[in-house]
Amino acid sequence: MIIQLEPNIQPGQLQGVEKALEAIRYRAKRVTTQQADYLVCVGKAPFDIRSIGILPGVRDIHRVSDSYKLVSRKWRVEDTVIDLGNGLKVGTGHFALMAGPCSIESEAQVDEVIAHLVANEVRIMRGGVYKPRSSPYSFRGLGMEGLRMWHEKARAAGIRIITEVMMVEQIDAMAPYVDIFQVGARNAQNFNLLDALGGVDKPVLLKRGVSGTLSELLHAAEYIFSNGNERILLCERGIRSYETAYRNTFDINAIAVLKEKTHLPVIADPSHGIGIRRFVPRIALAATVAGADGLLMEVHAQPEQALSDGQQTLSFGEARRVYEHVRELLHLRAGW
Ligand code: PEP
Ligand code: MN
Repeated sequence: MIIQLEPNIQPGQLQGVEKALEAIRYRAKRVTTQQADYLVCVGKAPFDIRSIGILPGVRDIHRVSDSYKLVSRKWRVEDTVIDLGNGLKVGTGHFALMAGPCSIESEAQVDEVIAHLVANEVRIMRGGVYKPRSSPYSFRGLGMEGLRMWHEKARAAGIRIITEVMMVEQIDAMAPYVDIFQVGARNAQNFNLLDALGGVDKPVLLKRGVSGTLSELLHAAEYIFSNGNERILLCERGIRSYETAYRNTFDINAIAVLKEKTHLPVIADPSHGIGIRRFVPRIALAATVAGADGLLMEVHAQPEQALSDGQQTLSFGEARRVYEHVRELLHLRAGW
């Protein structure tokens, strides 16, 4: 059960609610986010929910049987739409294209990608400056220096930045230069990192773990939400399966099922989802048909030259065709 409290609840009113919960033997945890104040309650005894709903200081109340609570659609029926400012929103009715290289590599590369995005009206650029690599000998990113350079160019062009944060210690330094923090698949259950991102006033895109279930993904999101940050995007990026013909198995089902289970926006990453460039466009379109609220895709002027993930990175021409086809599909989807 979740109780949303009135923002100006009086101490006496709060005590009244706590007493009522004690009487039915429910345990309550107070959660204060950037937007609202809640009591997340767990218990078993049957009771009339209206008896608590009418108490002074209670704004809203719902039973939530899922073990993740605040991210559940049983708590919030309306879809969450995340406002990035200047008219840019992400969520139902506001499909977001996010594209850019796997890694930020150089000034020239950033200039080329920004020109491509601006020409195609894509307003969010992805790119890693701290890269989780399977081998310690691979390129591991330009770090803060690269992020500052990228930020200066992106700001001048009106482009937002989504980039991966790998450690709690990086958050404060990165925050002024980041519009959306990305949590990578390898960190999907790094609960210290998730807790810390709950205290940040920036949206967080949370990727599904390499072998993560949807329940694990939703509980990971609950960590961020219950620590104060409601602005979360979930991302399906493919999972490890027994199949070896492609890098990951993109779970198209996850898009449709997540949209039902949670009110949070659901983004698809077809690049990591299949890991093979020539198939990325059709997986991007399939995810759009399945109901995704946005796409996160790897693009590069010369994918063959990319310092990471070139094998799954689209050229500008290939990416442009995906944007065009996605926009056509969105028209169709609006009528479904
Ligand atoms: C990435 O987006 O470049 C990335 C490393 O993704 P993932 O965490 O999904 O592997
Ligand atoms: Mn990558």
